[in-house]
Amino acid sequence: MGISIMTELAPTVDFIRDIISRDLGNLVNDGRLHTRFPPEPNGYLHIGHAKSICLNFGVAAEHPGGQCNLRFDDTNPEKEDVEYVDSIQEDVRWLGFTWEDRCFYASDYFSQLYQLAEKLIELGKAYVCDLSSVQMREYRGTLTEPGQESPNRNRGVAENLDLFRRMRAGEFPDGAKVLRAKIDMASPNMNMRDPTLYRIRRVIHHRTGGEWLIYPTYDYAHGLSDALECITHSLCTLEFEDHRPLYDWILDQLQLPCRPRQIEFSRLSLEYTVMSKRKLHALVQSGAVAGWDDPRMPTISGLRRRGFTPESIRDFCRCIGISKSPNRVEYALLENCLRTDLEARAPRAMAVLHPLKVIIENFPADRVEELTAANHPQNEAMGMRTLYFTQEIFIEQDDFREVASKEYKRLVLGGEVRLRNGYVIRCEEAVKDPISGEIVALRCVYDPATLNVNPVGRKVKGVIHWVSATRSVVGEVRLYAPLFTVSDPDGLKGEIVEYVNPESIQVLTNCRLEPSLASANGGIPFQFERLGYFHRDREARPDYPVFNRAVSLRDAWAKIEQRR
Ligand code: ATP
Ligand code: MG
Repeated sequence: MGISIMTELAPTVDFIRDIISRDLGNLVNDGRLHTRFPPEPNGYLHIGHAKSICLNFGVAAEHPGGQCNLRFDDTNPEKEDVEYVDSIQEDVRWLGFTWEDRCFYASDYFSQLYQLAEKLIELGKAYVCDLSSVQMREYRGTLTEPGQESPNRNRGVAENLDLFRRMRAGEFPDGAKVLRAKIDMASPNMNMRDPTLYRIRRVIHHRTGGEWLIYPTYDYAHGLSDALECITHSLCTLEFEDHRPLYDWILDQLQLPCRPRQIEFSRLSLEYTVMSKRKLHALVQSGAVAGWDDPRMPTISGLRRRGFTPESIRDFCRCIGISKSPNRVEYALLENCLRTDLEARAPRAMAVLHPLKVIIENFPADRVEELTAANHPQNEAMGMRTLYFTQEIFIEQDDFREVASKEYKRLVLGGEVRLRNGYVIRCEEAVKDPISGEIVALRCVYDPATLNVNPVGRKVKGVIHWVSATRSVVGEVRLYAPLFTVSDPDGLKGEIVEYVNPESIQVLTNCRLEPSLASANGGIPFQFERLGYFHRDREARPDYPVFNRAVSLRDAWAKIEQRR
């Protein structure tokens, strides 16, 4: 069960903010507040990261003097790349946050981390172990049985120092030895059973190149990086809860001037999509999506390309809040945050996605009438634009039916409808293809006395959108549906790629757009009247606009839910 849509903004208080306020009040760490956002540069950021970014940068901004660092946790060189570093910086900035001059890399600390490891050895708290990874696993024990001590556990300090230095110097092959913390092989917490601190890996690092042959583990590097940056509150997701005793143990042994505190909160997971970078990688690699920024992806870059605004994502993060209880959030909540934002400020425009030609019989073929339309119904400051009324126009195919019915408020044979921002027209005849019987055009008449007013005594209920046939541009519109048809794709067995919804993208290439849309640049999406919010895609060309539907006007998920 996901959490349902909240109409009010949730107040920004949560257990983490409570702890922080208390710590600041008690002058813990001299009353400083310093957080960090620590992505591993091994993929693009997703909406789950946005939750962490909004928390870390957000809470720092809420307190005078509060600071938040961006730190690349780059201790796993095999999977990391500068492409990811660049995209992460772009995404954090786009979300509206700044790290000022505090962008750091765990790899900047490799020398210090190495020195601290020697210090641990000197303290008798770390040793070089010769067990293979298979043996290590056997010696580790299980949740119900204690582990066994390594035969190397009681090596002397001098021997350990010598071996560790030789590990660094490249005297041993990959995997031949590791440096381990000397804690407790009988601890009920498996993370405390002499965890690995350093491993030998002959891998080129994207920043330090071939300088290092040994790399620290996440557990060793993370807390120390926090301490070296004088982080006060190290906020992370729940899977690190069991690692906290190790985080504390390492800091307790080494007694650095700053002492950060780790606090865990639950990860965001979102219905109908996946969040793990491994799975997102698989989607990209397999070609199931067009890249990390495919508008169907839950990545920040995908959401941006789709038409999400930073405001809507920040609002979403505020709505979901911070807690320790894992939950799967409804996709509709994310969409609703976008709708609320765009409703207030998206410029309006008209576009016809499935064009049906309408010939206005009583309008001269050589005439072009300029009509004006407000760019936003409530916001006059957004100005007006010109629409062109001509003898031939386009309406949506499904805005016409031959046979009237009570619920159908649009155009029917012999009936009237209002053209949005224009006149009332009446349909006289549906022209059909003699062979297929398909409707190819409508013959209509317009009433010149009805421009934006209803004539006395005549109520025209239906309003439809339209564009001029001769004064519009042909363009492409891409419509999206959920990337997966099941609400919990993480629960599926086998390759995630096999479960991608084949109907998750629909490309319409013969759409007709108002001329103002041809020259539209970046900015926020438009509301195409009656159709939803549409964002110009980066593949658009000056002569060929391409738009992505970011979100429909109303919630389409209710229907999807019913089908489940
Ligand atoms: P993934 O499992 O998706 O690969 P990760 O945790 O390995 O994610 P990192 O780059 O290490 O990704 O994450 C950087 C920060 O973002 C971490 O502090 C992590 O806890 C947080 N984070 C990652 N995923 C989520 C999520 N779904 N919800 C909230 N925070 C998250
Ligand atoms: Mg990680």
